[in-house]
Amino acid sequence: MSDVFQFMNVARNPGEKVPAADRKIVFKEIYAPLNKSDAGEQSGRCLSCGNPYCSWECPVHNYIPQWLQLVDEGKLFEAAELSHKTNSLPEICGRVCPQDRLCEGACTLNQGGFGAVSIGSVEKYITDTAFKQGWRPDVSGVIWTDKKVAVIGAGPAGLGCADILVRNGVKPVVFDRYEQIGGLLTYGIPEFKLEKEVIQTRREIMEGMGVEFRLSTEVGKDITIDELMSEFDAVFMGMGAYKYMRGGFDGEDLPGVLEALPYLINNVRHSMGTLEGEAHVSMKGKRVIVLGGGDTSMDCNRTAIRQGAESVICAYRRDEANMPGSKREVANAKEEGVEFRWNSQPVGIEQNDDGTLTLKLVTTQLGAPDAKGRRKPEVVPGSEIGIEADHVVIAFGFQAEAADWFAGQNIHTDDWGRTLAPFKQKFKHQTSNPKVFAGGDQVRGADLVVRAVYEGRQAAEGILEYLNVW
Ligand code: FAD
Ligand code: SF4
Repeated sequence: MSDVFQFMNVARNPGEKVPAADRKIVFKEIYAPLNKSDAGEQSGRCLSCGNPYCSWECPVHNYIPQWLQLVDEGKLFEAAELSHKTNSLPEICGRVCPQDRLCEGACTLNQGGFGAVSIGSVEKYITDTAFKQGWRPDVSGVIWTDKKVAVIGAGPAGLGCADILVRNGVKPVVFDRYEQIGGLLTYGIPEFKLEKEVIQTRREIMEGMGVEFRLSTEVGKDITIDELMSEFDAVFMGMGAYKYMRGGFDGEDLPGVLEALPYLINNVRHSMGTLEGEAHVSMKGKRVIVLGGGDTSMDCNRTAIRQGAESVICAYRRDEANMPGSKREVANAKEEGVEFRWNSQPVGIEQNDDGTLTLKLVTTQLGAPDAKGRRKPEVVPGSEIGIEADHVVIAFGFQAEAADWFAGQNIHTDDWGRTLAPFKQKFKHQTSNPKVFAGGDQVRGADLVVRAVYEGRQAAEGILEYLNVW
């Protein structure tokens, strides 16, 4: 039985619906945390196979079989030390990585049909438990240089970069426009997937290592890039990807139609008590339709359910097998009562006389593969229907974009707004301005936490070489 069932009333059979009033969702971690014996048992299942496919599929190339063995032997602090050698945020990746597509998908036991080792859960267990028992990253041997680097953005990329810089004696000063660190970890990913106190603990750990945070400080508004360029020896940008991707149909700007990210961010800031004004939207008692099939869409679905929506429908233009979202998140959304409409493409939204909305959907079927090999949805003629809703949330994804000060600093972007800062060059992740480096969603486009951490760490290595520290 899924752990989820222990905490709420959910549909257990295909097609079964649970009335909103009967759904009971507890605002606590719905994935039961591992205890010592679970972690030991899972670790003991690792075959230590000669080819650690799990490590290769893990974007930071964690030493997975090695730390599983240390846990199996009861050497928790050694496991924590080893885990931090490759990952700056192991307790966070352990919670939010789509393991089914990464490490656990590659586990030899999984390939053999025996079920993967719960690598993510063990990774989370190691750091959570080691922190509770007093373990801290060992920076006692750091020899400080006189160099300092400005890091713009306290998201996973910025934190990954700051971690490597401080461990090598270079002072990172991290600027962020928000009042808390974490970027989308804090303001995008909902509490039910990632508890906010985990990020708070990480902040305390990083400050203890010597990282300085200057929060509520937007570069370009509260401080200029020129000031950073003159005060610091180098600059790292991990500013994320926040440009909303529109659907391109009528009615997107109607009242009641929401963009996914502001909806999620305002909900988090409302819960934290840091949102001013009327921006918070509650779905309590509302009929909600979420458009899109990625993880952000699943977060909107599940947030609306938790806010007490009367019904939540998720419409996606391809079939279930071709959804970009993590299978685990789709399964969770289904279990919580979200109704999925596959092969359904929005073509417009109209406002009804009573102020409610009607979403117009057409049925699609998958045609020939496009240049990327993905089968293109084609509209079935005469299939248009209308569905009434109180709110439509648009979750079609996000793009990176250039800040208005990029041109003055000779920082180049591509046609998709992604900052050009390639890995393969003399100094990894250097931009067209030699003193400025970049990584994470700003360079890759909207992606994953673990890849942003990796790029931040790699960029830090580029900076250390550029500053002749290495
Ligand atoms: P961000 O996390 O976006 O951080 C960028 C930071 O830069 C922000 O704090 C921002 O305030 C700051 N900033 C920007 N401009 C300035 C400026 N001028 N001055 C000062 N500060 C500035 N990934 C997963 O792996 N698993 C998931 O389950 C998952 N769920 C997601 C759910 C949602 C709703 C969303 C939107 C994304 C999700 N992701 C998930 C993706 C993941 O959150 C991102 O890939 C990751 O956070 C990118 O890290 P980053 O550091 O590049 O950018
Ligand atoms: Fe798996 Fe992500 Fe941890 Fe790598 S960082 S081992 S992919 S959970």
